[in-house]
Amino acid sequence: MKRSGMTRIAVLGTLVGIGLLTMTVAAFQRSGAPGRGNIVDVQRLRSNLYLMRGGGGNSAVFVTTTGVVVVDTKNPGWGAPLLEAIKSITDKPVTTIINTHTHGDHVSGNVEFPANVEVIAHANTAENMKAMRPPATIPQTGPPTNIFNQNGGVGLPKRTFTDTLTIGTGADRVVLRYFGRGHTNGDAWVVFPALRFAHAGDIFSGKNIPLLDSNNGGSAVEIGASLDKGFLALGTQVDAFITGHSDVMMPADLKEYAQFNKDFANDVIAAKKAGKTVDEIAATWKIPAKYVGYADPIPERLRGNIELVFNETK
Ligand SMILES: [Zn+2]
Repeated sequence: MKRSGMTRIAVLGTLVGIGLLTMTVAAFQRSGAPGRGNIVDVQRLRSNLYLMRGGGGNSAVFVTTTGVVVVDTKNPGWGAPLLEAIKSITDKPVTTIINTHTHGDHVSGNVEFPANVEVIAHANTAENMKAMRPPATIPQTGPPTNIFNQNGGVGLPKRTFTDTLTIGTGADRVVLRYFGRGHTNGDAWVVFPALRFAHAGDIFSGKNIPLLDSNNGGSAVEIGASLDKGFLALGTQVDAFITGHSDVMMPADLKEYAQFNKDFANDVIAAKKAGKTVDEIAATWKIPAKYVGYADPIPERLRGNIELVFNETK
């Protein structure tokens, strides 16, 4: 990894300078789906690590000496354009898909990859993906669909982990970690140690009030501690994190986000003890001024997260 030093400095300079990498090398239109407009935006983060955005959650594409590791595969209909984008950067086959968690905007594209690709996820996520329960806070229209049932089980994880799992060796090493409940009960953190980069998935989707999916084991009370563990374990091992839906962020951003979530739970617990109702807290809680650049809360999500704190502290 001799040559990575200068590259890292240059790339991080870009990150710090303008907050978003601008090394967009290509954009892709899905062929054979006129009018769908499924465009995957490709950003090169390192010589062999790409961030592919659009169509759901952020995907990471890691090109190893033997094949390609893909982290998250987006919404239904976005697996094929993602695969096309990957083919534009390498001739190597996709060998591995890692899913950070169960949500449809991160796993549905699995079914559009060849069936011999190994799919890996946290053990709880593997269970959640068999059921594909929608998050309670997202109202469903029409009957529930299970994309894996519709495809005869293709795309479901066959390899799982509970605390940590290492795949590959040397510069190709990928380390999966689990630091506790948050967005769901199976949020995998995917680390590329040689590149000092990680994909945090939706436990760190961006600077916002998190979607906490209690239907799939998410926790409003525990997410702050889980994020803290992530920061303590990885904050010195990596220079930057791919987030679930936002820009690349620094370890300091993760540390702040952990505190933000702890502050939120503590605010709600204190207000509950003072006799306030869920609705009263939802009507008055504001993002503290010290948290700069945080998106204004979606009212339903804010209320749902307050209610979850109440339910978890009964
Ligand atoms: Zn999610």
